[in-house]
Amino acid sequence: MAGSTGTKMLHRNCLIRTKNTPLKSAARTVLQLRSLVTIFLALSCFITLFSCARKQGKIIGIKIYHYDGDVRLLAQKWKDIGINTAFVSEDLAANNSFREVLQQNAIPVYVIFPVFFNPGELASDSTLYALTDRGKIAKDGWVEFVCPSRENYRAQQIAAAKRLVSDLKPDGISLDFIRQFVFWEKIYEGRSAETIPRACYCSHCLSDFSMKTGVTLPDTFNSVKEKADHLVRYHDARWNRYRTELITSMAQEIFRQVKKIKPAIRVCLHAVPWRETDFDGAAIRVAAQDLKMLSAFTDYVSPMCYAGMLRRDPKWISSVVEDMNHRASDKILPSIQVYDEADSTTFDRDDFATCVREALAEPSLGVVFWSWPLFDKDPARMDIAKAAVGNH
Ligand SMILES: [Zn+2]
Repeated sequence: MAGSTGTKMLHRNCLIRTKNTPLKSAARTVLQLRSLVTIFLALSCFITLFSCARKQGKIIGIKIYHYDGDVRLLAQKWKDIGINTAFVSEDLAANNSFREVLQQNAIPVYVIFPVFFNPGELASDSTLYALTDRGKIAKDGWVEFVCPSRENYRAQQIAAAKRLVSDLKPDGISLDFIRQFVFWEKIYEGRSAETIPRACYCSHCLSDFSMKTGVTLPDTFNSVKEKADHLVRYHDARWNRYRTELITSMAQEIFRQVKKIKPAIRVCLHAVPWRETDFDGAAIRVAAQDLKMLSAFTDYVSPMCYAGMLRRDPKWISSVVEDMNHRASDKILPSIQVYDEADSTTFDRDDFATCVREALAEPSLGVVFWSWPLFDKDPARMDIAKAAVGNH
C-alpha cells in the first residue's frame, strides 16, 4: 500500500516535473537574465559614478603672472568659468591678500618656478650661460638659459624652491624651464631636426661628462662644433643620457626636498610639447626631458600645447597628451593657449573651443589656460571655456 502510494506520488512528481520542465526552464532563464541585467545596471552605475568622480576631479587651471585688480572679482570670474586651480608667479603668490582670497574660494595655488631660465642671474654672471653645439651662448630673443651642470647654481635653485615652499606654503610648485636650452615656441611642424640647436656643450659639461663616463675627446679639437660633431657621431646615446640626467636629477632633488617640507605639496613639470618621435626624438635629443624618468619625480606633466603659436591643428593637442601618457601614465595635464596675439584671425574662437575639448579628452587630467590676460583680449572666450568645461 505504502509502496503503491509512494509509486503514485513518485509518478505524480514525475508528471509534474515532466509537465513543468519547459516552464521551469523558462523561469530559470528569466531569473538568469534578471541577474545579468542587475549586474549590468550595477556595473553601469559604478562606471558612471567613477567617470563622474574623475570629471569632478579634473584640474581646470589658469596661468597668471601679474594682477593689479580686485582679487575677489577675479576669483568670482574664475569660479563662474569653472577654473579651480591657479598657476601663479612667485611675485603674485607672495601677495598675502591674493593668496587669502583664493584660499577662501578653495582655489589651490601652484607657484611657477623657473629653473634654468634666469636672465637676472645671467646678467650678473655671463659665465653661467649654456652653450649650443654651434658654440653660441644659449640666448635667442627672450629665451636665455643657464648651463644645467653648475653645482652652485643648482644648489642655489634648490634652496630657492625650498624657501618658497617654507615661506608661502603653496598647494603646488610648477617647475618651468626645466630642460636644456631650446626656443621650442618657434619650432614649427616640418622643421628639419638637424637644424635645431642643441645644448649644453660648455667646457664644464664636457669635462663633467668625461669624468662621469671616462669618454675623452681628442685634444686636437679647437671648436665647440668639432667636439659636438664628435660626440654625436661616436657617443650620442651616452651624451644624451648625461644631458637628460642633468635635468632628471634636478627635478628629483627639488621634488624630494619640497615634499620633505610639505608632504602634501603637488609637483608639476612644464614639458616641451613634442611627441616621442617629433623632430627625430628631440624631446630627449634637444630638450633632454625624459618623461619616463621624470614621471617618478612629478605629480603632473604639463605639455605646453599652444596650437595657435605653433600653427598646429587643435586636434594635435590630444595626440600629444596620448603620446606622453605612454611615458608618464595618468600624469598629463595639458596647458593651452587662449588667444594668439600674433595671429588672432587664424586661431579663432572655434579653434579655441576645439582646443579646450581636445585638452580635456581622456586620458588628460584637465586643462591649464595660458593665460588670464589673454582672456581679456577676447572675453567671449571666457564663455567658450565655461561651456566646454561645463559640458565635459
Ligand atoms: Zn654646460
